[in-house]
Amino acid sequence: MQIAARGVKDERVLAAMRSVPRHLFVPLTFREGAYNDCPLPIGRGQTISQPYIVAVMTELLRLEPGDRVLEIGGGSGYQAAILGTLARDVISIERIPEVARMAEENLSETGIVNVTIVIGNGTLGYPDKAPYDAILITAAAPEVPPPLIDQLAEGGRLVAPVGSRDLQELVRCTKKEGAITREYFGGVVFVPLLGRHGWPE
Ligand code: SAH
Repeated sequence: MQIAARGVKDERVLAAMRSVPRHLFVPLTFREGAYNDCPLPIGRGQTISQPYIVAVMTELLRLEPGDRVLEIGGGSGYQAAILGTLARDVISIERIPEVARMAEENLSETGIVNVTIVIGNGTLGYPDKAPYDAILITAAAPEVPPPLIDQLAEGGRLVAPVGSRDLQELVRCTKKEGAITREYFGGVVFVPLLGRHGWPE
């Protein structure tokens, strides 16, 4: 598999990537390219991430089967489906209502039932179901939104692309005894995270 060849080692992540049918999350006109290692348009100027980056971010989250996960930037629902395969349940927030509906349809076609799509500004998190063992931001953030750090459980991991609108670095924040440690994992390019604690809309 292309992804294993590029250094993703976690067997559970590789198995999840094999089991979730990516073509169901890609618009019909792009389905031929669904298994190439590149991002693809999903409408409204948004993209489904490159499979390799999905795998890397998922591995960095170190998910356990009992984990409760929050994703910001639902997009096609593909990353949420991978998270749902590896964790207990997933809430994925998407700000564009049509995109959120598409994610729900895609997920229902796969039969994955432990992912809930919520429409809203994800930078505020989803306090009703906090705290989360893992939080993943799949849009480019100028900073890690403080409400998301607050909603991270003890021992929790948050992974995000942080930087400018054009280029970001993958950051993993880990909460231990209330303190946050940060580790960096190289350059990535995502569409912008918009709204409060993100870029201006
Ligand atoms: N994870 C997705 C790819 C996400 S693309 C997938 O697997 O397909 C980034 C998404 O973040 C876009 O759909 C965009 O509309 C959404 N987004 C941007 N800012 C947001 C915000 N503040 N809250 C929630 N979603 C946001």
